Amino acid sequence: MSQAFLSHIAATLTAIEAEGLMKRERALQGPQAAQVMLGGRSMLNLCSNNYLGLADDPRLIAAAKSAMDSHGYGMASVRFICGTQDLHQRLESRLAQFLGTDDALLFAACFDANGAVFEPLLGEEDAVISDSLNHASIIDGIRLCKARRFRFANNDMDDLQRQLQAARDGGARFILVVTDGVFSMDGSFANLGDLARLAADYGALTMVDDCHATGFIGPQGRGTAARAGVKVDLMTGTFGKALGGALGGYVAGPQVVIDLLRQRARPYLFSNALPPAVVGAALAALDLVEAADDLLAKLAQNAAYWRAGLQALGFALLAGSHPIVPVMIGDAPLAQKFAQALEAQGVMVSAFFFPVVPRGQARIRTQMTAALSRDDLDFGLAAFGAAGRATGVLA
Ligand SMILES: *Cc1c(COP(=O)(O)O)cnc(C)c1O
Repeated sequence: MSQAFLSHIAATLTAIEAEGLMKRERALQGPQAAQVMLGGRSMLNLCSNNYLGLADDPRLIAAAKSAMDSHGYGMASVRFICGTQDLHQRLESRLAQFLGTDDALLFAACFDANGAVFEPLLGEEDAVISDSLNHASIIDGIRLCKARRFRFANNDMDDLQRQLQAARDGGARFILVVTDGVFSMDGSFANLGDLARLAADYGALTMVDDCHATGFIGPQGRGTAARAGVKVDLMTGTFGKALGGALGGYVAGPQVVIDLLRQRARPYLFSNALPPAVVGAALAALDLVEAADDLLAKLAQNAAYWRAGLQALGFALLAGSHPIVPVMIGDAPLAQKFAQALEAQGVMVSAFFFPVVPRGQARIRTQMTAALSRDDLDFGLAAFGAAGRATGVLA
């Protein structure tokens, strides 16, 4: 490779480091859980998407092993050639039943589902209106389609109405409004009640990405639309968070839409089928969450207790009720220093800063899970207090 090119790339890395924006991986020496092994030490984990604590659940592990025994390890095929098993079809209809849609289509990840969904459904005569805080995969998916693009300020229904009007004035044939159900950097909910009403006023379609909701938000974990008591046209989501945390994504919606995606969605047509272990465990995860009122209640209690505890210590939080509880720091290097002070006390958190959040809005995004005990939370709060005072985050 040319030396000039490598020097150019190395200079970019140096600039990232100099700005205090370098991200580093920490290798866990064992399963994802409330307590994880890191550098030979047990650490309290406050930064995973393992909302229901299912990532190391023996029932899911048993389901994965049993699916491997009955259906093998890998598929070595895309779905439409010879990569579909009865398990895939069972999961798609199970998911549709869980979400209350006609059908669903599996993808390797929700990143792929969002990359797949727009291009086959919308053409240049159409318009797509996207919330400004939508996930990167929605932004990329929209880039791949030919529809005219509009953006509204995060959760701002007046701005959404302006954009709907602009799309209509521009002569759009079909208009699709797309939002995250939960904005993952803020832990806030999309205002789906008003969004659905506005969309209906303009005859627009609606789509919600429920990655940070499916399995634990709304009645029986059916997601943000169920929580808001509204119907949306399309949903995307993941098995990589609350539903076991392995991988796999989906689009759920009306029959003809799913039928067309099976013909035209490129990440479905040109990428491998999900392995049987993942599909078998995902089926078990859906059964589990439907019957897991106690886990959902524990998660909600943990989130309320954690928020109240951080507030009492004097931290600046973003208001809300989701198990994502962001602690606002501001300066990226200070956020990293604070995260290191917590790590020294046996608490693992993650500092988020530009480009994942706007410059100057660095934060520690804490996440609650049903796997955490009251003792865990008290230990975490004591560590936050001590680290806050030691770093000057708390006065
Ligand atoms: C995590 C996430 C994704 C990506 O999901 P994967 O299945 O991990 O690819 C997409 N959208 C949102 C809102 C997410 O939070």
